[in-house]
Amino acid sequence: MAQFDASDLKKIGVYTSGGDAPGMNAALRAVVRVAINDGLEVMAIHHGYVGMMENEITVLERGSMANIIQRGGTIIKTGRSLEFMKPEGRKKAAANLKAHGIQALVCIGGDGSFRGAHALWQEHQIPTIGLPGTIDNDVHGTDTTIGFDTAVNTALDAIDKIRDTAASHDRLFIVEVMGRNSGFIATEVGLAGGAEDVVIPENQSSVDDIITKIQKGVARGKKSSIVVIAEGQKPGRAYDLAEAIRKKSNMDAKVAILGHIQRGGSPTAADRNLASRLGAAAVTALRKGVCDVMAGLKAGEVAFTPLEDTFSRHKTVRKDLLPLIQVLGS
Ligand code: ADP
Repeated sequence: MAQFDASDLKKIGVYTSGGDAPGMNAALRAVVRVAINDGLEVMAIHHGYVGMMENEITVLERGSMANIIQRGGTIIKTGRSLEFMKPEGRKKAAANLKAHGIQALVCIGGDGSFRGAHALWQEHQIPTIGLPGTIDNDVHGTDTTIGFDTAVNTALDAIDKIRDTAASHDRLFIVEVMGRNSGFIATEVGLAGGAEDVVIPENQSSVDDIITKIQKGVARGKKSSIVVIAEGQKPGRAYDLAEAIRKKSNMDAKVAILGHIQRGGSPTAADRNLASRLGAAAVTALRKGVCDVMAGLKAGEVAFTPLEDTFSRHKTVRKDLLPLIQVLGS
């Protein structure tokens, strides 16, 4: 684990970056309150790396964290920046941080944000601890990410409602959930929602397989089915699947794309508590001079993973879930 000299640590900065996730505010609150409790000053960097380069940096008070633990999104805003991906952008950002006397950072974001934080450490020796804030759960080094549980429960609530109408009309529904390159939300929600099948980037069931499974169910007297599909790189894949099923089997499949509702909403207790524990752990670790790592949760305990591993190693969906979903949904 990388180390820096934290003996005169007085001021830290905190930012949220990349895709927003429910629980980011709870993480921010924990970072700010633990840091202030420990005698540190905390500054907010608004809009992620955009604000770091544009000098959108303000002091945070303990009181400014009131009434945010239950709010989705991020009160200090998030951002994406192509400029920051170039060394000149990061130089500008580092100069702003130094001008404010910010000695270390807490980055709440996903693997893209951690790439940026790692580059800041390598090029400008700005120490950072990452907190995994993304609904996708696709970050190596933590069993679960801040926002994942809320997104799963939001999608589950929608699927339960879709099942009511699917059952009333004897219909096949294809429900598309978020997950850029991963099927974490799809498998978790597929299992919890009693889906007949799940299509994820890691395991592409063929249309023929899906049709066969659904037809077997129909032959046994099943009147309605739900197939959950992860959006992958191209949102709208559910329409392609519905069309393919229609062409090959004449079955009419209805499509529901859940989209951005999965990002919003009040975080679940699990996400708030994960965010609170990891936020506190990040400040404690920085005060010990630990940096260039992410604070995650492994088997119930806080564990640190080098930032480089969080984005260079691939976290995979549990292999036993898909067969279980298929058996239980058959
Ligand atoms: P997330 O953190 O949710 O994965 P993104 O992938 O959009 O979200 O990353 C957030 C931001 O992090 C990007 O807009 C960019 O500014 C910065 N970033 C991503 N990849 C890199 C990289 N390789 N080098 C430097 N900065 C990066």
